[in-house]
Amino acid sequence: MLTFICLALAVGLGIALVKLANHRRAVRSLHGAIIRKQPFLREDVPGATGGVWEALCSATNELITEVGTLQQQRSGQLTQLEATLGSLQEAVLIVDANNYIMLANKALKEIFPRAKDILGQRLEIVLHSVVFLNHVDAVRRGVAQPQYEIEFVDGNDTRWVEVTGTSIPPLNGQKGQWVIFVLHDITKLKRLELVRKDFVANVSHELRTPLSVIKGYIETLVEGHEEIPLVDRARFLKTIERHTERLNSLLEDLLTLSRLESINPGLRREAVSLADLVDGIMGEFRARPEASGHHLTCEMDPGVGRLLIDPLKMTQVCENLIANALKYTPAGTTVHVEARRRQKEVMLTFADTGPGIPADDLPHLFERFYRVDKGRSRDKGGTGLGLSIVKHIVQLHGGRVWVDSTVGKGTTFSISLPLSPNG
Ligand code: ADP
Repeated sequence: MLTFICLALAVGLGIALVKLANHRRAVRSLHGAIIRKQPFLREDVPGATGGVWEALCSATNELITEVGTLQQQRSGQLTQLEATLGSLQEAVLIVDANNYIMLANKALKEIFPRAKDILGQRLEIVLHSVVFLNHVDAVRRGVAQPQYEIEFVDGNDTRWVEVTGTSIPPLNGQKGQWVIFVLHDITKLKRLELVRKDFVANVSHELRTPLSVIKGYIETLVEGHEEIPLVDRARFLKTIERHTERLNSLLEDLLTLSRLESINPGLRREAVSLADLVDGIMGEFRARPEASGHHLTCEMDPGVGRLLIDPLKMTQVCENLIANALKYTPAGTTVHVEARRRQKEVMLTFADTGPGIPADDLPHLFERFYRVDKGRSRDKGGTGLGLSIVKHIVQLHGGRVWVDSTVGKGTTFSISLPLSPNG
């Protein structure tokens, strides 16, 4: 009898253990289905039978289907949003609660061309800016300025961007706060602002020196006009005259530049023989005292013929370049001007055998107020605007100007002008 009871107990325990193992398998399989978000199939797990299992399985499957539908709807929303924002001119960026990029439209990729395949990447890996990351955080906390200017530096490339952001609920049903940003590229504006500020600072600086010299000498003359000896008075007046002339040249050059940069620069083209124009200018320079120690030579290709140019403005170009060659090269050197016809253009070169210009200065030479030797330029009455005026006039004629120079050997300024004004 005891043996029978023991046997029955052992069989019962065995059955219970098998059932427990089946239930465990069923629970694991149910859990797997939830994670995979795929319907739970009872026939895959023989142990999952009975009323409770039946009800649990169908409730779980309903939930899984519902979650799937919701997620599809949400990702549909994101795709729809992407399609709508894609065509916007404004750059749009959406990041999730962990700063992963969820959406970036075409305009954004134009602002940051180096950022490729940015969807799904972390913000800090794509846009290297601590300021922007702090701003994202401030937007999430609702303490950000409505519009914020941020400077993005990527190697040699610097961009200024105006950013407006607000937080939104996640579009994929997850928790946390997403943030949407509209970005405006204001790099061009910022650069213009810098150029304007530089220009105002340069002009003020250029005006200040002659004005303070003139003021100083006039005060001395007014205060001591009875005691100052005549020789000193004459010297003071000469200095005042020199600085007044400097102010005058500066204002004239500034006015010329501002006219050339205006919408209507007043180009008056007529058919002109370039050879005659250059010959005339060279003749005038040969008669000037500053050219007395130099050799001025000229070679005009007869094939150049007549060009449709503004003779007054082109005269200013030639005079500036020849005057520079005489100013910055010592007596005894040669200044050679040459014109050649080449297919659809005319090449005009102004070469000197002077001291040359260091390579580092060459890229800046046509900038306003740029001087290689500031003292020498001012002593010679230079304003630092001559080459900038040359560049503007040549460009208005549809041409190009550039410089080649070797220190110790000399400098050549070259101009190419199209034979026909339409290029
Ligand atoms: P500036 O009024 O000072 O002459 P420019 O714009 O005409 O101004 O020239 C800019 C600078 O370029 C000059 O200050 C001078 O340092 C340099 N430069 C121009 N032409 C020559 C030249 N032929 N040889 C050497 N340096 C030159």
